[in-house]
Amino acid sequence: MSNKNSADSDAIRVCCRFRPLNSKEKARGDEYIPKFFKDNHQQVKFQEKTYNFDYVFPSETTQEQLYISAAKPIVADVLQGFNGTIFAYGQTSAGKTHSMEGVMHNQELRGVIPRIVSDIFEYIYQFDESVVFHIQISYFEIYLDKIRDLLDPTKSNLAVHEDVNRVPYVKGATERFVASEEEVLAVLDEGKNNRKVASTNMNADSSRSHSIFLINVKQEDTKTETKLTGKLYLVDLAGSEKVGKTGAEGETL
Ligand code: ADP
Repeated sequence: MSNKNSADSDAIRVCCRFRPLNSKEKARGDEYIPKFFKDNHQQVKFQEKTYNFDYVFPSETTQEQLYISAAKPIVADVLQGFNGTIFAYGQTSAGKTHSMEGVMHNQELRGVIPRIVSDIFEYIYQFDESVVFHIQISYFEIYLDKIRDLLDPTKSNLAVHEDVNRVPYVKGATERFVASEEEVLAVLDEGKNNRKVASTNMNADSSRSHSIFLINVKQEDTKTETKLTGKLYLVDLAGSEKVGKTGAEGETL
C-alpha cells in the first residue's frame, strides 16, 4: 500500500500481491484459490466473489515487476520534493518482508527497498555538482507501544512529535548521512542486526513489531537556489493477525 502527498492528489493506492503456495502448503495438498484475469490487473476472484484493487499481482510476479508497478512512481514523487509512504500489510508469512526487502544483495530477488535506493542514487548521479544532495536514513521499530531506534540501541523509547505543519515525526531518531547505495544497504543490515539482537534479548517475535525505514532526500540547486525535501517511509507492518498485540496505541499508532 502506498501514498504520497503530491499536489495533484492525495493518492492512496492499494495493491495486492499473492505469493505462491509454499512447500508445506503444497505437501498438505492446499488448493490455490485466487483466480486472476487476463489483461485485467485490478481484479481477483475468490470462488464467486470478485475483489478490486489498484493493482493485483499474481503469484508469478517478479520482484522487478512489483517494484515497477507499485513503488517506482512514488520514488519519482519523493525526488520532486513530495513525501510518500509504502507499507506492506498482511498476515505473518504472506510475503511482506519478501516484497519490502527480499534477498537484499541479490539483483534479481532484491525487494522494493534496495531497488528504491538504487534508483535514488542513479537519479543523483545524473546531476552535475551544482545540485547538492543530502540523503539521511533513519530506521526504527515499534514494539509494545515503544519506538526503538535500530541505529542506536541505547534509544529504546523515542517519542512522536509534530512539526510546524502538524506532520508527525519521531524525535531524536538517529539520522545517518549516506553517500552511496552500498552505504544505505550497510545501514539497513546494521539495523536488521540490532533488531534481531533486541528481539532475541527480549525473547520477542519480530513479526509482532512494525519496522520503519525512512529515507530523507534533500536537494539544493546552488545555481537557482531552490531547495527540495522529500521523505519516503518504508514500512513493514507486524503480521496483521498480531497488530492488536503490538500494543501501539494513541500517538504511536
Ligand atoms: P512476512 O514478512 O509477511 O511474514 P515473508 O516475507 O517472511 O512473510 O515470507 C514468508 C516466506 O515466503 C519466506 O520464506 C519468503 O521467502 C516466501 N515468499 C514470500 N513471498 C514470496 C513470493 N512472492 N515468491 C516466492 N516466495 C515468497
